Amino acid sequence: MTQIHRFDAVVVGAGGAGLWAALELVRNQTNVAVLTKLYPTRSHTGAAQGGIGAALGNLEEDHWQWHMFDTVKGGDYLVDQDAAEILAREAIDTVYELEHMGLPFNRTPDGKIDQRRFGGHTHHEGQGPVRRSCYAADRTGHMILQTLYQQCIKHEARFFNEYQVLDLIIENGVCSGVVTVDIVSGEIHIFHAKATVLAAGGSGRMFKVTSNAHAYTGDVFAMLYRKGYPLEDMEFFQFHPTGIYKMGILMSEAARGEGGVLVNSKGERFMQRYAPTMMDLAPRDMISRYMQMEINEGRGIDGKDYLYLDIRPETINQYKSAPSGKQVTEHELREKLPDIIEMMELYLGVDPMKQLVPTQPTAHYTMGGIPTDVNGRVVIDEKNTILPGLYAAGECATVSVHGANRLGTNSLVDILVFGRRSGRAAAEDVRKMDFAPLSEHPDAIVTTQIDRLFASTGKESATELRTKMQETMTSKCGVFRRADTLEQAGKTIAELKECYQNISIADHTKRFNTELLEALELGYLLDCAEATVASAAARTESRGAHAREDFPKRDDANWLKHTLVYKKDSKVQFNYKPVVITRYQPKERKY
Ligand SMILES: Cc1cc2nc3c(=O)[nH]c(=O)nc-3n(C[C@H](O)[C@H](O)[C@H](O)COP(=O)(O)OP(=O)(O)OC[C@H]3O[C@@H](n4cnc5c(N)ncnc54)[C@H](O)[C@@H]3O)c2cc1C
Repeated sequence: MTQIHRFDAVVVGAGGAGLWAALELVRNQTNVAVLTKLYPTRSHTGAAQGGIGAALGNLEEDHWQWHMFDTVKGGDYLVDQDAAEILAREAIDTVYELEHMGLPFNRTPDGKIDQRRFGGHTHHEGQGPVRRSCYAADRTGHMILQTLYQQCIKHEARFFNEYQVLDLIIENGVCSGVVTVDIVSGEIHIFHAKATVLAAGGSGRMFKVTSNAHAYTGDVFAMLYRKGYPLEDMEFFQFHPTGIYKMGILMSEAARGEGGVLVNSKGERFMQRYAPTMMDLAPRDMISRYMQMEINEGRGIDGKDYLYLDIRPETINQYKSAPSGKQVTEHELREKLPDIIEMMELYLGVDPMKQLVPTQPTAHYTMGGIPTDVNGRVVIDEKNTILPGLYAAGECATVSVHGANRLGTNSLVDILVFGRRSGRAAAEDVRKMDFAPLSEHPDAIVTTQIDRLFASTGKESATELRTKMQETMTSKCGVFRRADTLEQAGKTIAELKECYQNISIADHTKRFNTELLEALELGYLLDCAEATVASAAARTESRGAHAREDFPKRDDANWLKHTLVYKKDSKVQFNYKPVVITRYQPKERKY
C-alpha cells in the first residue's frame, strides 16, 4: 500500500547542499522532510578532501573579485558571471558561519583559519598562486557534513534515511512532490509538498575510471530529462588529474597545493612547459589534457597510460614548490595530508614520502545538470521560465558557476552558498503557495516500472550493460573526444538502452532489494550518458573540459552559449541560451 505524507517542503539529498537547504527551511519554521538514499553522513560531500575556497586573505592579500575572476577564467568563460559574483562574495560569510557552527578548521599560529593553494586560484588576476582554500586537514567535506548534520538535528529537521526517490511528481507544469521507496521495507511512499529541493549529487558513475561514490547515478537528472525538461551543459564533465592508477580513487589537488609535482617517464616536471606560471596548479582541464598528451606521445611511465605524482619532501624542497617558500618536512606533510597518504599506502602499497605514486586522470565532477536561477529555482528553457515548486542546488544543479571547468574548492562553496539560497527561496515561496492537488495515481510510472522488472524474464544483465556503458564513456567520451568516437559512443549507448528493456533481476523480495535499485539506477545513468554524448557531439569547439581533437580551438563567435539538451518525441533536441557576462570579457586562457 502506498503511503502519502505531506510536508511544506521536501529536500532530496543530505549532502552539503541538501543539509544547508534543510537548515534554512527549518530555521524559517518550514515543515520539512529530508529524503536520502544514503545515511546522511555517507553522502559524497564527506569524501571532499582539499578544502573550500573563500577570499579570507588570512595569509596573503586576497579579494572576492580575484576569486570571481579565477572562477570565470577557470570555467573558460562559460560561467554566468552574476552567479560567480554571488559565489565569491558569499563564500566568505559561509565559511565564517561554518566556523561559528563549530567546524574544526586548521589554524594559523595566530588562530585564524589556515588556507592552502589550489589549482587555478590566483592573486592579481593570474599573477601567481594564492592561498584561498580553507581546510580541515584533508577531511574538509567530512567535517562540513558532520557540522551541518548536527545543526539539522539540533533544529529538529525530519530525516527519512534510506528513502530513495524514484520519480518527481510534476503535473500541469507544477512540481508537487516525489515518489520514493523505503529501501528497508520496499514500500512506496509519496511525499506531497509545496516545494521540492533537489540536492542529489552527480552522475560520475557513467564512467569506468572515476573518483565518484557508487551513489552518483544521476537519478534526478534523468527524472527530469525523461519528462522532456532540459539539462544544461552536460558535455562538460571534469576529469581530475590525479586519480590512483586504474582505480580512479582521488588524491586531492591539496597534494600539489602543498608542493607536490607531476612527472613523466623521463623524470621531467612537464607542467613547466605547458603552464609556466601556475605549473602543477593550472586548472584541472588543462592538466588532465597535458597528462594525456604526455601519455600519447610515449612519455607515460614504462610506456603505459599513467604518470607519477611526486610528493616526497626532498622533491618539494628541490623545486621550492611549498606554498610557504620554506623547506617542508615529512612530519608537516603527514599532518596536512593524513588521509590521502594513508590511501596511497593502503591501495597501492606505496609510501609517498619515499616513493612515486602512479596516477592518471579520473572522471570527477558533473559540471552540467539541472538549470536553475541564482536562488535555486529550476528553469526550463532559454528564457529562464521557472518550474513552480522545484528547486535544485549542489552538484546536480547548474547555476552556472563552473561553466566549462570547475576550479578545485569551488564545489564546496557552490553547494553551501546555493544550498542556502535555495532553502531560503523555498521557505519564502511555501508561505505564498498552496498544495497543488495530486492526481489519482502519482506513483503509476514507478509501480509499473518495478512490476515490469519483477515480471521480466529477459536475458540481459544489468551488470554487463553497466560495464559496457562505463567502458564506452571512458574510452570514447573522455578527456579527448572526436566526431567519430562520439558517434560510436552514441550508437553504443542507444543499443544499451534497447538491451535495458530486456534486463531481468533474480531477487524478487521487497526488503533491501539493492539489485532492483541498482537496475533502476542504471536506467538513470544511461539517460545521463545519452545526454552527455549528444551534447558533446553537437558542440564543435574545445572549451574547458570539453576537448575536441577535431575542433581544437575555442569558438566564441558560435559557441559562447549554454547547451540545453532535452528529449521530445523520443528524439534528443537542443536549445541554447546566452552566457551572463558582467565584469570579464572572454580572453585567451594562459596560466
Ligand atoms: C573524492 C572527492 C573529493 C572531492 N574534494 C573536493 C574538495 O576538496 N573541494 C571541493 O570543493 N569539492 C570537492 N569535491 C566535489 C564535492 O565534494 C561534491 O561536488 C559535493 O560535495 C556534492 O555535494 P552535494 O550536496 O551536491 O551532493 P552529495 O554530498 O553527493 O549528496 C547527495 C545526496 O543525495 C542523495 N541522493 C542521491 N540520489 C538520491 C535519490 N534518488 N533519492 C534520495 N536521495 C538521493 C544521497 O543520499 C546524498 O545524501 C570532491 C568530490 C569527490 C568525489
